[in-house]
Amino acid sequence: MSNNDCDVVIVGGGIAGLTAALVSARAGRRTRVLTGPALGGQLISIERIDGYPGFPDGIPGYELCPIVQEQAVAAGADFSAAAATNLTLHEGRWSVTSREGEIRAAAVVIASGTSSKELGIPGEERLRGKGVSHCASCDGPLLRSRTVGVVGGGDSALQEALTLTQHVSRVIILHRGASLSGQAAYRDPVLRHDKIEVRTNTVVEEVIGDVGLTAVRTRRTTDGSQSDVELAALFVYIGLAPNTAWLNETLELDASGRIPTDDRMRTRRPGLFAAGTVRSGSAGRAASAGGDGATAAVAADQYLSDGAWRV
Ligand SMILES: Cc1cc2nc3c(=O)[nH]c(=O)nc-3n(C[C@H](O)[C@H](O)[C@H](O)COP(=O)(O)OP(=O)(O)OC[C@H]3O[C@@H](n4cnc5c(N)ncnc54)[C@H](O)[C@@H]3O)c2cc1C
Repeated sequence: MSNNDCDVVIVGGGIAGLTAALVSARAGRRTRVLTGPALGGQLISIERIDGYPGFPDGIPGYELCPIVQEQAVAAGADFSAAAATNLTLHEGRWSVTSREGEIRAAAVVIASGTSSKELGIPGEERLRGKGVSHCASCDGPLLRSRTVGVVGGGDSALQEALTLTQHVSRVIILHRGASLSGQAAYRDPVLRHDKIEVRTNTVVEEVIGDVGLTAVRTRRTTDGSQSDVELAALFVYIGLAPNTAWLNETLELDASGRIPTDDRMRTRRPGLFAAGTVRSGSAGRAASAGGDGATAAVAADQYLSDGAWRV
């Protein structure tokens, strides 16, 4: 086996990939992990992960993820921050390409997760990092006593609006729907919170500002009226897009761009597994993503032992 060979390659350093790495390395498999740009994935910037077993008061993602990584390293997993750029089959082994070259393995766990969707409106790209943000816990503390906007009405938008109230003086939620869609555990405190104002039936059409964001242009969907809302920052939580472009059509994806698997996280191609929010039907929670990672690692271990892909 060369240095570029191993038993299992894991693509993704979110909770799914980290858990897969831990379980695979503990099974004695030579395990290489490519984490890409965000070690810890979506969770790394979450101030308080709710509903994760063992932490009744929640835990910050930036505390949980490094602990799981340390556990995986102690078990023998080898990490790199490179991003996978291609996945191909060579003489019965999978080859994962990154800036560091190729790694070959009989089994690959794809755990590349999701990225936040953009609004796709004028000014957004230009003012990203200058008022347009996807990270309440990173940028909220810099906005003390200011008014900020949150776009979206689902769990992420509501959870992050609540996080922002710890820092800013006022949060305006701008939501295109007629009512908030997030779960009651977030919706009720948002609706009760005296620092939060909810504007439904409202679409953000433009981000305004010269060197930094100063306002957004909104339109009411009910009567078409436009208005400018003065804000110090805009936090965008309108959904998540799966990170599957790097697969270059090696795998068939579902209509949402996610990877179909069976209940052992096996894809339709022998040796390829998918775990976490990149796969079809993911429950979308940290605990389920970690569970997927563990299931995928166990199934990969079994595949390597059997030497056969039993359907
Ligand atoms: C704002 C917000 C709040 C949330 N709050 C909660 C909560 O309180 N409780 C809860 O249970 N869940 C919460 N979630 C959901 C939770 O974040 C996800 O379920 C979980 O992060 C999914 O983990 P994952 O490993 O599948 O994917 P991700 O976390 O998306 O991780 C993907 C990983 O893949 C890597 N990657 C991407 N492309 C490549 C590539 N080409 N090569 C190598 N690596 C790559 C990334 O760098 C990253 O490390 C929240 C989500 C959001 C957005």
